[in-house]
Amino acid sequence: MGGIGSGRRWYYDAAETTDDYLALDIRRWKRDGLLTPGRWLGWQWSRNGSQIAAIRARVETDRVVLVYRHKTGGADWKDEEYPVYLEWTPCHLGGTRPWFLCPASGCGRRVAILYGGGIFACRHCHELGYPSQREPDYERAARRADKIRDRLGWEPGILNGAGLKPKGMHWRTYDRLTAQHDAFVSASLAGMAARVRLLGDSIDDWI
Ligand SMILES: [Zn+2]
Repeated sequence: MGGIGSGRRWYYDAAETTDDYLALDIRRWKRDGLLTPGRWLGWQWSRNGSQIAAIRARVETDRVVLVYRHKTGGADWKDEEYPVYLEWTPCHLGGTRPWFLCPASGCGRRVAILYGGGIFACRHCHELGYPSQREPDYERAARRADKIRDRLGWEPGILNGAGLKPKGMHWRTYDRLTAQHDAFVSASLAGMAARVRLLGDSIDDWI
């Protein structure tokens, strides 16, 4: 997949949670009709009513190119421009849904949400910088994901993919629950992957 993040690592304050990151949610972009090849999309984040960050992205057929500037501490503004590849998978009831493939070097994980600060990457990648901050073990994460699946009326089992929004549930609630669900699923899969590696299986190509 190449390049971004090669040889660099990014660190965040250990006290931060995913709520403190800037999140890009591909489902939201699709729902808002922003994924039209050849178009630019703009996205912004606000807190307490004022804009805190913004990004632009050029939409191409199989990827979006993120374009933004960022600044860390007292450093100068740094321009970033790099592609994030997309993958489309079929939905249960027809149609397709898009995913980001995490652009961090060596990752390529299929995720709905990328978290940013300096570089946008999946939750798992951001946590690699944190040996001290361990995920709950994978079984616990899977159980928590299943609890959310239950609330959403989805088939149990984190490998069963996403279902639909229950009738009558607000989109905001649905977005929050699915984001939490995805985070638990990633955590669980990462935990399983780590365990498989401990058992001697080589899965280096996807961890
Ligand atoms: Zn990643």
